[in-house]
Amino acid sequence: MKPVRVVVVGGGFAGLRCLGLLRRGSSALALTLVDPSPESVFRPLLPDVIAGKIALRRLLLPLDPFCARNRAEFVKEAAERTEGEEIVLASGRRLPFDQLVVACGASPAFFGNDAAREIAFPLYSAADAARLLRRTEDVIVSGRPHSFVVVGGGYTGLEAATALAWRIRRRVPPDRRGNFAVRIVELAPRILGRLPDRFALPAARAAVRLGVEISTGARIGSVSPDAIEIDGRRSGDFTLVWSAGVAAEAFAGRIDSPRDRQGRLLVGPDLRLPGRKNVYALGDCAAFADGKEVLRMAVQFSRGEGEAAARNILRQVRGEDSLPFRPRDLGWLIPVASWRAWGEVLGLPVGGRLGALFHYAMCVHRTHRLADRIGIAGDLLRALFRGAP
Ligand SMILES: Cc1cc2nc3c(=O)[nH]c(=O)nc-3n(C[C@H](O)[C@H](O)[C@H](O)COP(=O)(O)OP(=O)(O)OC[C@H]3O[C@@H](n4cnc5c(N)ncnc54)[C@H](O)[C@@H]3O)c2cc1C
Repeated sequence: MKPVRVVVVGGGFAGLRCLGLLRRGSSALALTLVDPSPESVFRPLLPDVIAGKIALRRLLLPLDPFCARNRAEFVKEAAERTEGEEIVLASGRRLPFDQLVVACGASPAFFGNDAAREIAFPLYSAADAARLLRRTEDVIVSGRPHSFVVVGGGYTGLEAATALAWRIRRRVPPDRRGNFAVRIVELAPRILGRLPDRFALPAARAAVRLGVEISTGARIGSVSPDAIEIDGRRSGDFTLVWSAGVAAEAFAGRIDSPRDRQGRLLVGPDLRLPGRKNVYALGDCAAFADGKEVLRMAVQFSRGEGEAAARNILRQVRGEDSLPFRPRDLGWLIPVASWRAWGEVLGLPVGGRLGALFHYAMCVHRTHRLADRIGIAGDLLRALFRGAP
């Protein structure tokens, strides 16, 4: 009998969890992972790379050895589109599948602002982190007055801004820090607008204590490499850090199936696309409704969906019915670079240093390899004992 061919598009939290469990569940499946990147990135700790607390290499899991361990083929290419029961890759190569898992994640959304896209520094991928790090160091070494303009006051904007402020404090002597500004520009009346005051306000205060300026009800206008307009005032010597929003990756957008406003593919209770028996969508590129609410983009849900999809594919292969996905929400935290975080863990409010402890414990626990866990914990302890800059 021919082996069932499962193609997983995207080697992030959802895709890798699914692939690993599929291999554990059956040695007979022919597994293929498609991803243009040679490594999977642990995104929640990217701001700590900018802050100078963790080395970037600790956050990268090479996909080739991961696939070799799981006896899967690794195809280092972007998936372009689906045609019938085939994936068409960027090179034109075609991969036939019996089961398809779409787990290609999300990427920064520029809402049609091409000028911003050209010059912006998002903080989403490993390459983004390396680029922003180089830019920040160049700016610090030059010593010239400079503003980091962080567009978007959601949690990633706050994390990026406080990480930059932390790095500047660590690298620049107090008498020269006045040359550098970090400013969050947010259109809404307050940052972290969707969170209750008891979490949003202390997080905002912690950012201000680090020297971050917060401009709410503010709008960026025209941008060019030389100048940025904020509320009608133009200024130069700036770095535009883009945290204004994310949308599902382009590959998800090219699948002919209903999507939500962020381009996330709507999935049924068992994570399959409506009307498709053999196509699952997981993680940030999928919109799974838990009751009325769509699950937020988070590591725990991506991994949980990866587990549920693997279980359902294995059931389908055995001729059994699929089961609905039942998400478990362990909580969420908004970290700030000064070793503090606010949010809820198991339904209970936590804040300050205890919040940061939970956040980093989650990150270390979720990291794939023991060596990286030890490395991250070591980097964090070293950064902690260096003390506040
Ligand atoms: C700065 C930052 C901080 C965050 N902090 C937290 C946090 O504290 N807690 C938390 O729970 N979540 C956090 N998140 C969100 C979390 O990282 C995501 O929810 C999670 O990574 C989603 O997992 P995923 O598997 O869906 O996608 P990803 O992990 O993004 O993986 C998607 C994969 O698909 C690949 N891919 C993309 N396009 C294609 C294509 N066309 N063909 C093939 N492969 C493709 C990509 O290369 C990537 O490897 C944070 C995110 C960011 C950016």
